[in-house]
Amino acid sequence: MPERPVRHWGGWVAAVAFVLGVLWALNRPAPTTTSASEPPVTSVPTAKPPSAGLGKTAPSPSSPPSPPPQAAVQTPEPATGIPPLLLPVQGVSPRDLRDTFADTRDANQRGHEAIDIMAPRGTPVFAVDDGRIVKLFSSKPGGITVYQFDPTGNFAYYYAHLDAYAEGLAEGQTVKRGSVIGFVGYTGNANPAAPHLHFAIFKLGPEKQWWKGEPINPFEYLGGKKP
Ligand SMILES: [Zn+2]
Repeated sequence: MPERPVRHWGGWVAAVAFVLGVLWALNRPAPTTTSASEPPVTSVPTAKPPSAGLGKTAPSPSSPPSPPPQAAVQTPEPATGIPPLLLPVQGVSPRDLRDTFADTRDANQRGHEAIDIMAPRGTPVFAVDDGRIVKLFSSKPGGITVYQFDPTGNFAYYYAHLDAYAEGLAEGQTVKRGSVIGFVGYTGNANPAAPHLHFAIFKLGPEKQWWKGEPINPFEYLGGKKP
């Protein structure tokens, strides 16, 4: 009896060892059969059958062409290259401006194509931009006028109905933005009861003739805001 537990333990340990051994043997990874060669890949003829795709339209070319990019996009301001300009009449703020570019003159015979900036006679008139005084000209409609080219030579700035030129102003002179070039008046065909500066911008042609160009509305370049 006293040895019975020993024998019992001994048999139990042996049984556990046997079971563990069996489990270990079962869990062993099976030896890989590397020698078993894969079945040879049957060589497929690489040349595509010429009939492939015939009679079928490929899906991508049949999709409708995308619309041309930015075909009808309206930019709020024309990309002219004109920078924001200085308001050329002393004491006038952008809020005071009225867009009179599309007005007509001479009983609808011609477009205004400029902006009228109302101010008392004698109010100083500034150059809206750096540039060069190209022509000092007196005409029946415009009265005493100044033609200034911008620094690039692509645009002309036109100031009309002046009461007088600034002292010393001369053709060929270089001016800076803000230089006084003249004074508000009503020379030419302006109403003496309503002196104002008539200001216009022209995009010059390749000949760079001061009297010839395509009119551009100055309103927004002077800071005017459309309602
Ligand atoms: Zn005008």
